[in-house]
Amino acid sequence: MNESALVIFSGGQDSTTCLAWALDRFNEVMTIGFSYGQRHHVEMDCRKEILQSIGKLNSKWASKLKHDEVLNIGLFNEIGGTALTEDVEITMDKNGLPTTFVPGRNLIFLTAAAAYAYRQGIRHIILGVCETDFSGYPDCRDDTMKAMQIALNLGMESRFAIHTPLMWIDKADTWGLAHKLGGTPFVDFIREHTHTCYLGDRTNRQPWGYGCGKCPACELRAKGWEIFSEKGTSNVF
Ligand code: ZN
Repeated sequence: MNESALVIFSGGQDSTTCLAWALDRFNEVMTIGFSYGQRHHVEMDCRKEILQSIGKLNSKWASKLKHDEVLNIGLFNEIGGTALTEDVEITMDKNGLPTTFVPGRNLIFLTAAAAYAYRQGIRHIILGVCETDFSGYPDCRDDTMKAMQIALNLGMESRFAIHTPLMWIDKADTWGLAHKLGGTPFVDFIREHTHTCYLGDRTNRQPWGYGCGKCPACELRAKGWEIFSEKGTSNVF
């Protein structure tokens, strides 16, 4: 597509796969990240490294990858109460959602990304949300995304298109999509450079990357990797 895109990029497995998906399709790709008082700065460090080195995998990707913007959103830290912003145990809350749920996070991210995209004249916004995710975060659902697309387009009198390439695939197929986009070198790149672990652990190297191996994010990533490895790289959906 002869157009520009903005990827909401955190440095995790999902948004890194989305970044490659966008680099494969669009003419110019910009990235946006948010510093919202995360407990661990590991993801922010990883995202920088990924942006510096992903172009080495593919010269077309290198020429398409443009500016990265990091915005500070302190309000989630001020509101508090979640395991991603403070020392709260990762467990299920009474409402059936894990304590890692940050209410409104993706809504605010999308609004901020759209405001930035508006200024840059970008129409396409990409983010790595997924309904098949174990947690059932309501702000990752397809209906939420469609409602946000309408709200942003009405509120900013624009024609933004929100793309969610991972919406209907599980973690095993997310590894499969990475392989389809960049082959084994990109899969290895994701294993080495992306970060998913809720506890910010970069000391334990697992077959699927770095992480504690026990938190829900690690468990999900490990399970996806296991299924992907068993299926082999012939799994191109
Ligand atoms: Zn972990």
